[in-house]
Amino acid sequence: MSNTHQEENVRPRKLSDFIGQQDLRENLDIFIRAATERERPLDHTLFYGNPGLGKTTLARIMASELGVNMVSTSGPVIERSGDLAAILTNLDRGDILFIDEIHRMPATVEEVLYPAMEDFQIDLVIGSGPGARTVKLDLEPFTLVGATTRLGLLTSPLRDRFGSIFRIEFYSPEELARIVERAATILGVEVAPDGALAIGRRSRGTPRIANRLLRRVRDYALVQGDGRVTKEIAERSLDRLDVDQYGLDNMDRKILMLMVENFNGGPVGLKTIAAACAEEVRTIEDIYEPYLIQCGFLKRTPRGRVATPKAYKHLKLRREDDDQHMLI
Ligand code: ADP
Repeated sequence: MSNTHQEENVRPRKLSDFIGQQDLRENLDIFIRAATERERPLDHTLFYGNPGLGKTTLARIMASELGVNMVSTSGPVIERSGDLAAILTNLDRGDILFIDEIHRMPATVEEVLYPAMEDFQIDLVIGSGPGARTVKLDLEPFTLVGATTRLGLLTSPLRDRFGSIFRIEFYSPEELARIVERAATILGVEVAPDGALAIGRRSRGTPRIANRLLRRVRDYALVQGDGRVTKEIAERSLDRLDVDQYGLDNMDRKILMLMVENFNGGPVGLKTIAAACAEEVRTIEDIYEPYLIQCGFLKRTPRGRVATPKAYKHLKLRREDDDQHMLI
């Protein structure tokens, strides 16, 4: 079975199976019940947060709890306004249109969304040149669910058209342990509670990573042990996979090391870090940086990124200034 298949298998289908994010879950539960009672489509909803925290999962859960279809696409895939018009006119009443990476939608396409979201209408241009005319087309009422890793990159007209905006937070190690235990049951893997917690601690606060590490540790447990994921097996195999106690991987450590060794801990610009790591700025900003900040290893300052004393301690390094202080 491919990884994508395995990821689909463990994806929660009901709100009650969705672990963590308690406030968000309670709010969503009320909105879903109210929409069902009123027989009206749910308000347009925006989820923002790091990759792998459950945005797509929540959109799917909303569709299944409401008993409607979900049509799924993503911002960069919709290249022309006609593409979006085709999707919108095909929606049935109450359907959910899920647009991942909605901040990457071209501006011309985004403009089609405004009247669609507000009045369930689109303006279609028929013909071209002097004879071209615009007709308004009615759509079935639908719910747009947008997902983005970066709320700040959404234009304000688009952001303002969402009825609810939810931030998805990193998960605690205990919540991730519950996610691991649930996934293990589905995958038929035996996991000791402290084994699940050991995986949860090293999963960067992210369910997708927790599930991925579980699959890797399971392989290790099968080959090196009796198949049961214990704390010891989990820790040993994650060490071998270069995932440290904080869940940092080689790239995280490379970023911190670079800041420390080449820039004396910063401040250093994001572009410089990205170029030196041969990684895209967006990847550093979306994937690595938020977690390094969350762990307290990196700080954003007006002059650039700075490695914190905690990062030095974790990397077992000393700052040059510290040596000077010691000399004085
Ligand atoms: P995103 O859309 O934010 O990138 P996904 O919704 O695709 O993230 O989630 C990635 C995987 O993590 C899913 O396949 C699902 O199995 C798991 N997952 C995410 N959130 C939860 C959760 N709260 N409880 C259990 N599993 C979760």
